[in-house]
Amino acid sequence: MFDYLVVGGGFAGRVLAERLANGSGKKVLIVDKRPHIGGNAYDHHNDAGILIHKYGPHIFHTNSREVFEYLSRFTEWRSYQHRVLASVDGQLLPIPINLDTINKLYGLSLTSFQLEDFFASVAEKKEQIRTSEDVVVSKVGRELYEKFFRNYTRKQWDLDPSELDASVTARVPTRTNRDDRYFTDSYQAMPLYGFTRMFERMLDHPNIHFLLNTDYREVERIIPYREMIYTGPVDEFFDFRYGKLPYRSLEFRHETIDKPIYQPAPVVNYPNDHLYTRVTEFKYLTGQEHAKTSIVYEFPRSEGDPYYPVPRPENAEIYKKYKALADATPKVYFVGRLATYKYYNMDQVVAQALTLYAKITESRRVESTNR
Ligand code: FAD
Ligand code: UDP
Repeated sequence: MFDYLVVGGGFAGRVLAERLANGSGKKVLIVDKRPHIGGNAYDHHNDAGILIHKYGPHIFHTNSREVFEYLSRFTEWRSYQHRVLASVDGQLLPIPINLDTINKLYGLSLTSFQLEDFFASVAEKKEQIRTSEDVVVSKVGRELYEKFFRNYTRKQWDLDPSELDASVTARVPTRTNRDDRYFTDSYQAMPLYGFTRMFERMLDHPNIHFLLNTDYREVERIIPYREMIYTGPVDEFFDFRYGKLPYRSLEFRHETIDKPIYQPAPVVNYPNDHLYTRVTEFKYLTGQEHAKTSIVYEFPRSEGDPYYPVPRPENAEIYKKYKALADATPKVYFVGRLATYKYYNMDQVVAQALTLYAKITESRRVESTNR
């Protein structure tokens, strides 16, 4: 008899499995329909021997000391500050938009103070910042919004930024200094030997067992367990009772090129050209030295594996109904990006999973003192 059946071997499932086994001595079975553990953060060496991220670029960053220290039990780190260029008007310019972006784009030599005045002169006043369009035009005006955000967003989501919550484009800040890092979190690092190696160390425990290539529905009735941790799509769990929750998908096209460097930055975004949104060159992320290099193109899709919840009011309404059902379902805990329909980064999923573990142990403590 297993104490827990964990559906999904991504960050959410793995943290719970590790904590329940190591922290509480529970017996855990992780079931994943994919042929590997790691969920979307899975990485592996390709045929050329280059470490790549199968499901697109994953860069670890967090402001949470707790999350960083927790993961540090399972990996050493390589310090890494992520940088991105956007291909706009025939130039490769820093994104997030900063002082150099504007000076290069317009052939100017503004100072930071002058740039603040420039932004103030082009920004559109908004009573309320409600949508992803509002966020950008209220800071940098319509022209920069059109060049850097509008078409990228339409390509990525198949929606206009005016149809998406503010939180989507608010992920990308605007700066008046020359800081060209994509993230400014206090901890920014990549697992020294990759994510998969880190996951293997997390799950190296005699109480943790795996079943890969298996949908949990094939085994839930034949494998005895007490409680379930579910990290798959929440609408699927309830047989789409309230309709389908939209999840955005991607198709990844991986390529290996016979030269050491392909592009001048880890990621190049293509807001206005091509059917793909961005190209990532993995060696920048991993620090690997190799005579060849591997890249991945991301083509947004409406069908396929669910990768992104789509943050907009009508979807939040549908999710609310599923959340009420989930809360009323005994012995099943819903956690992670798909099961709680949240556009979470890896560190947020780890924090959510650690919080759930604390809740589970607390309710068990209360139960046993009441007995
Ligand atoms: P997942 O990793 O999706 O794991 C869920 C698992 O459940 C999957 O392995 C799936 O196969 C399994 N599953 C689902 N249904 C079933 C079923 N019925 N039976 C059995 N198994 C099932 N975050 C960052 O912090 N930094 C980044 O740079 C970053 N880049 C990203 C780039 C892309 C292209 C994407 C898509 C995401 C990115 N993220 C990034 C987000 C990150 O991937 C997630 O926060 C994290 O992986 C979510 O973990 P999870 O466990 O919730 O879900
Ligand atoms: N975005 C954009 N242009 C860019 C980069 C981002 O319009 O050059 C918008 C787009 O809507 C994207 C969102 O900002 O989906 C969040 O970007 P992020 O890089 O965080 O996306 P992720 O890495 O999660 O795919």
